[in-house]
Amino acid sequence: MSKKIVVIPGDGIGAEITAAAAQILKKTARKYDLELEFDTHHAGGAAIDLYGVPLPDSTVEAARQADAVLLGAVGGPKWDQVAPDIRPEKAILGLRKALGLYANLRPVRVPASLAEYSPLKPEIVSDIDVLIVRELTGGIYFGEKCEATLCDGVEKAWDVEIYSVPEVSRIVALACQAARQRRGKLVSVDKANVLASSRLWRRTANLVAQEYSDVALSHMYVDNCAMQLALAPKNFDVIVTSNLFGDILSDEAAVLGGSIGMMPSASLGDGTGLFEPIHGSAPDIAGQGIANPIGTILSAAMLLRHSLGEESAAAGIEQAVDQVLAKGYRTADLYRSGLIRTTTAEMAQLIEQHI
Ligand code: NAD
Repeated sequence: MSKKIVVIPGDGIGAEITAAAAQILKKTARKYDLELEFDTHHAGGAAIDLYGVPLPDSTVEAARQADAVLLGAVGGPKWDQVAPDIRPEKAILGLRKALGLYANLRPVRVPASLAEYSPLKPEIVSDIDVLIVRELTGGIYFGEKCEATLCDGVEKAWDVEIYSVPEVSRIVALACQAARQRRGKLVSVDKANVLASSRLWRRTANLVAQEYSDVALSHMYVDNCAMQLALAPKNFDVIVTSNLFGDILSDEAAVLGGSIGMMPSASLGDGTGLFEPIHGSAPDIAGQGIANPIGTILSAAMLLRHSLGEESAAAGIEQAVDQVLAKGYRTADLYRSGLIRTTTAEMAQLIEQHI
């Protein structure tokens, strides 16, 4: 049966990188005998220009009906002065809410061919393969908050970290399922020595993990995890953590690979999954044909794996990317003398040829 993919190019380099990823998905579909249907919709600045709002109802409805959504990125200086309630970024939060996306998955893989770009020593990062699973709709970002207020003559402000057992159970279960399809190691990250919400998190993680006897669960405090990601990232397989800790740790992990243009992500929930590179719309290089499309192409691989259940096709894309990089082809962000510089379109063409 044919699977529907809604493509939202967004702004800046969005059109160039989503076109490259759609080209790769089409080739993959031919090779692995999949039937994919593509439908383009607008969000972000492009939607403000066309409809006056960053997330039109037609885009939300199409996303709800689809099997998966592939997104470029939204925003740019053109829309910096619009009213706060219609800022382009509202499209991302609106889509997350409309699709009930409670889990954000960020894989960090550093093939040996890219290890030299890392701020860490090549032997520390070469061949790392870590998946960070971040809770996306709970915790301190959504808890009760109080803007600065005078209390007994002293100005105070606060944000409350709240987690419920169902919220922790579903994200840990999702992380266990991901670990089971990988190397079976799950580290749950918290601050249970200090925070009550972390103690509930840890207790719940232990209960959920009992249902996954093939997954080895361990626990780590967030401060130690931040250190271990820099000291020995190869020791990690899957990390699961709260919204706040995941926000920080996933950005730390993302720089291990050296270029933001390489990093994919998936947001999953009960309905349609959303797949996008972790970078923004890069207005400084938009329209020049030099953006690195690999983060979006690897997001398309995640789409096949997580929303369509097509593991071999997903792995096929990832292997093609590794092969092209190993042969020395690089877009401008990763180019160095002695390598072969490509445009966005040439990189997509090369990856397509290797599938
Ligand atoms: P950015 O990620 O767009 O760019 C940061 C730097 O990385 C720039 O120098 C850019 O040229 C480079 N870069 C990013 N992606 C690249 C790629 N694929 N290939 C080569 N180089 C790449 O971050 P920013 O400049 O802070 O933000 C630009 C706009 O994007 C803003 O409007 C911001 O709000 C928006 N943004 C959107 C999302 C999203 O849609 N999810 C995420 C982050 C930022």
